[in-house]
Amino acid sequence: MPWTDALLRFQDIDLELQKLNQRLAEIEAVLHDTSALTDAQRDAEQADKTAHTAHKAQKDVEFELQKTQTELQQTEQKLYSGNVTNPRQLEDLQAKSQSLRKWVAKLEDDLLEAMVAREEADEASDKTSVHLRHITTKRTTLEQNLAAERAVLQTRTQTLLQEAESAKARIPQVIMDSYHYLTSRTGGIPVARLHGDVCSMCGVEVLKPTQRKVKNGEEAYCDGCRRLLVA
Ligand SMILES: [Zn+2]
Repeated sequence: MPWTDALLRFQDIDLELQKLNQRLAEIEAVLHDTSALTDAQRDAEQADKTAHTAHKAQKDVEFELQKTQTELQQTEQKLYSGNVTNPRQLEDLQAKSQSLRKWVAKLEDDLLEAMVAREEADEASDKTSVHLRHITTKRTTLEQNLAAERAVLQTRTQTLLQEAESAKARIPQVIMDSYHYLTSRTGGIPVARLHGDVCSMCGVEVLKPTQRKVKNGEEAYCDGCRRLLVA
């Protein structure tokens, strides 16, 4: 393989390696960013806690209501049993019964509120659990796909690096020095081809002496863009 062909191949490899490295960096960034998953986990935990608290709040009201209803029942039994005849005692029992009735009514309202809150909390908890499952499945698939893609890209990178080494071995050192010098000054494409008498990169008509050098396989540079010029 003439050094000019090796140089063109070296540039192609260089460009492909840049793309591979860029994609590998993107993959690393996506794999590193687990924020969607941790957000969903945090939301699910929070909703679960809220639902748990709402269940407990409802149970507390139920317990208090049952206790108060029993107390009311006992007070009224006493009141209407005929066993208590003392007017003062009867009046006290009457007052206590009224107060307990009010308290029962209040607790019944509280219970309704607690039940609504508990239902809402359960719904929210179910929703965040479903979301978390969805996000977890999505993440697992994404990680598997990216890991597989990364493995392919890493293999390809190794192959290209080896090929670059053997291409480099065929290119004179002075040309390699020019290549590296020109890389950053030419947007990463330091080698152009001579198409007829025109540079493939900048479209400038190349001077005859330069064309001759190119055709002889000598070191030559485009008169327009200063790139290494090969046939
Ligand atoms: Zn040019």
